[in-house]
Amino acid sequence: MYAFELTRAKTVAEAAAALAKSGGKALAGGQSLIGAMKLRLAQPGTLVDLSGIAELKGIKKEGDAIVIGAMTRHADVAASAVVKAALPALAALAEGIGDRQVRNMGTLGGSLANNDPAACYPAAVLALGATVHTNKRKIGADEFFRGMFETALADDELITAVSFPIPEKAAYVKFKNPASRFALVGVFVAKTSRGVRVAVTGAASAVFRAKALEDALGKSFTADAAKSVKMSATGMNADLHGSPEYRAHLISVVAARAVAAAG
Ligand SMILES: Cc1cc2nc3c(=O)[nH]c(=O)nc-3n(C[C@H](O)[C@H](O)[C@H](O)COP(=O)(O)OP(=O)(O)OC[C@H]3O[C@@H](n4cnc5c(N)ncnc54)[C@H](O)[C@@H]3O)c2cc1C
Repeated sequence: MYAFELTRAKTVAEAAAALAKSGGKALAGGQSLIGAMKLRLAQPGTLVDLSGIAELKGIKKEGDAIVIGAMTRHADVAASAVVKAALPALAALAEGIGDRQVRNMGTLGGSLANNDPAACYPAAVLALGATVHTNKRKIGADEFFRGMFETALADDELITAVSFPIPEKAAYVKFKNPASRFALVGVFVAKTSRGVRVAVTGAASAVFRAKALEDALGKSFTADAAKSVKMSATGMNADLHGSPEYRAHLISVVAARAVAAAG
């Protein structure tokens, strides 16, 4: 590590002002940022700690949506009676993130702002057509994710909450990297009154919607319909864990499991 300033903010306004003034970075659970700093992949001169901001925490049902504060930890989403009742797929997703320490420290806002290509929450946000609330505006899921570790957020913009519309049916299944438990391929399927949305994480440079699966599942929301879709390997990741063809094949297999789990 190297020397840096640490500022503890008590309100979103205070945190945003400190970020704008310092050009530093927000610190949420530190589960991605501290590791990146240790590796010198990020070298902020100032960290603005969000953990003392009460207005960023909490889970509530608002009409047909579940609204979750940006600083809500994965473990709290996993354990929430509100989320389990209205959106059990999201509680299960949070329960499957990393290990106990990661779930007790990592936050929804940190995961989305980081936009790791293999992270789980981006798939839920995109498939559910969620809305990301910031201190400046509201951003629809289709506009939020821009590419590998890239989002629509400005440097001094803070995620404050995410509003997840409650679907008719939904499920998330991931084929895990056994070491990190990040997704080698993760698929979130959501059936709503407006149609079916399918988001894939882990397979490519960033989360994406799988149009071919959405079309097939829009006609028949069955595991067989998902299995019959042949995904193209173009643009899929290649690494020691799997070839592009392997990942493309896994998408349909994992999507079929997600549809079966959604019931
Ligand atoms: C061993 C391990 C296993 C993991 N496994 C998984 C997994 O299976 N699935 C998965 O999805 N993730 C996994 N993760 C990542 C984990 O979910 C992290 O919690 C998450 O990616 C980052 O959240 P954080 O709260 O720790 O954010 P931090 O690390 O504190 O911040 C990450 C980035 O987001 C920015 N940021 C944080 N909060 C905000 C905000 N409110 N507004 C704007 N910017 C903000 C920070 O400035 C920083 O750039 C794993 C991590 C580890 C270390």
